[in-house]
Amino acid sequence: MRATDIGQDFEQVLYTSQQVQERLTEVAAQIDADYRGEDLLLVGVLNGAVMVMADLSRLMKSHCEMDWMAISSYGSGTQSSGVVRILKDLTNDIHGRNVLVVEDIIDTGLTLSYLVSNLRSREPKSLEIMTMFRKPEAIQNDVEVKYIGFDIPDEFVVGYGLDYAQRYRNLADVATLKPEIYR
Ligand code: 5GP
Ligand code: MG
Ligand code: MG
Repeated sequence: MRATDIGQDFEQVLYTSQQVQERLTEVAAQIDADYRGEDLLLVGVLNGAVMVMADLSRLMKSHCEMDWMAISSYGSGTQSSGVVRILKDLTNDIHGRNVLVVEDIIDTGLTLSYLVSNLRSREPKSLEIMTMFRKPEAIQNDVEVKYIGFDIPDEFVVGYGLDYAQRYRNLADVATLKPEIYR
């Protein structure tokens, strides 16, 4: 679904599907170069990172494996609490492996901070983060993010895997919603 298909829901399109793909192509090339000849396991965080994982992995020119985690961040509506529960754990043992976490968006960074300390305790060979979007507040968090698609303003966005009340994940573009949609 494109923003123009249901245009009345959106305030502003931040990035078109094409802009997302162009930026992802650059990030994929960076990852290819950094992991050249190395083992690489991409860890996608469900559900939001499904689109990023699918596109990023296909834009890469080198081999990688994929695994998934589902976590739930307690807290209501559009705010993160940092209290995280693992709903689905990895299938693979990551001990001694190069792990790259693939995220949709980092807002406060609280979810990621929990995830990183959890994964680090499993003693991977290396652990890095890739996120499609990052908001300004995330910078305050101590987790270092190696690959960033776009730094975006502190606004609630939907599309490209990101939902509002489970909708808009299948929007190919990334957009802000009109205020009346929240009501
Ligand atoms: P954090 O713990 O970094 O504050 O929040 C991370 C999670 O909150 C993301 O994985 C995502 O599920 C949700 N989130 C944060 N900002 C946004 C946003 O702008 N739009 C949507 N749809 N979800 C967001
Ligand atoms: Mg996420
Ligand atoms: Mg969500």
